Amino acid sequence: MRVAQMTAFRKPFQVVELPVAAPRADGAVIRVEASGVCRSDWHFWNHDLAWLGMNLALPANTGHEVGGVVEEVGRDVRSIKVGDRVTVPFHESDGTCPHCRAGLQNLCDNVITPGVQRLGGWAQYVTVTAADLNCIKLPEPVDTLSAAALGCRFMTAYHAVIDRGAIEPGEWTAVHGCGGVGLSAVQIAAAADSLVVAVDVEERKLAKAREEGAVATINARGLTPEQVGQVVKDATGGGAHVSVDALGRGFTFHQSFNSLRKRGRHVQAGITSQEESGQVSLPLDLLTVMKLQVVGSLGNPHPKYAELLELVARQKLHPARLVTRQISLDDVTDTLERMTRFDTVGFEVITRFS
Ligand SMILES: [Zn+2]
Ligand SMILES: [Zn+2]
Repeated sequence: MRVAQMTAFRKPFQVVELPVAAPRADGAVIRVEASGVCRSDWHFWNHDLAWLGMNLALPANTGHEVGGVVEEVGRDVRSIKVGDRVTVPFHESDGTCPHCRAGLQNLCDNVITPGVQRLGGWAQYVTVTAADLNCIKLPEPVDTLSAAALGCRFMTAYHAVIDRGAIEPGEWTAVHGCGGVGLSAVQIAAAADSLVVAVDVEERKLAKAREEGAVATINARGLTPEQVGQVVKDATGGGAHVSVDALGRGFTFHQSFNSLRKRGRHVQAGITSQEESGQVSLPLDLLTVMKLQVVGSLGNPHPKYAELLELVARQKLHPARLVTRQISLDDVTDTLERMTRFDTVGFEVITRFS
């Protein structure tokens, strides 16, 4: 199979030929039809995440947003069949640890991260474990292009806004950073009848946020995090009920924190880069006197896919609408380089593999 391979950090990927790994008895091989280029891939390429214990060994094969068709299953697989159209959560789980048994597979103690513990999704095939758990079947109306987004960014935003933010209709949601996760969060919060304020430094991303349902947009260019917070407070009559950091920089965290009204909830969905390596200050006294909450959000537990896929099937949610460019396996470096300059809008998805 053709695979895009990282042989050095921040250097061009090479497309190489590798054998397709046979599935374990509980596993499956999936023919990839669509595979997203996510900022977490960019983080790996940038040699980030080492402070989380994810030291990428080179050569590496990243990519973790996969939509495809089951090509082969192991002898112990029961519910997944050859020909099923599926997506695979980026947190491939064992199904047996205490977190998995509690329905929180996104926190699996033995998680398999594509690109780290197995070959990733920028390839013609991926081989997954525990296929009955990790292959999520797509309802008929949901295409594999949508499924790619459902492997990471869209489902991450869904869990962040709906479960961790616990947004209620009529409440204000502020979204800081209108990249893939951010635009997804805007669309999802608006579909949940929240009033959405989107914040970014680029007008074309704010324009896309308005298309996705934001009722107000704020260009943060040249503003301090405190000033951005005040503009959000002015736009929302006192502050957001829920505010999401969809990027993961110190300034986006502080913008978001400063956007909250009393008893507001900050949701951290973005991961930081090497500048901060995860170390960001927290205005602790404001947390206390305003009774704020700061919660983290990672992925989306497998059982929560049913309601998410139902909303996509009924066209209440439109992940594919955020796909702005379909690319070839040979083009991933170009996309990553443009992500360094924040020069991509929405999702860029590999749909040409040969
Ligand atoms: Zn587990
Ligand atoms: Zn991702």
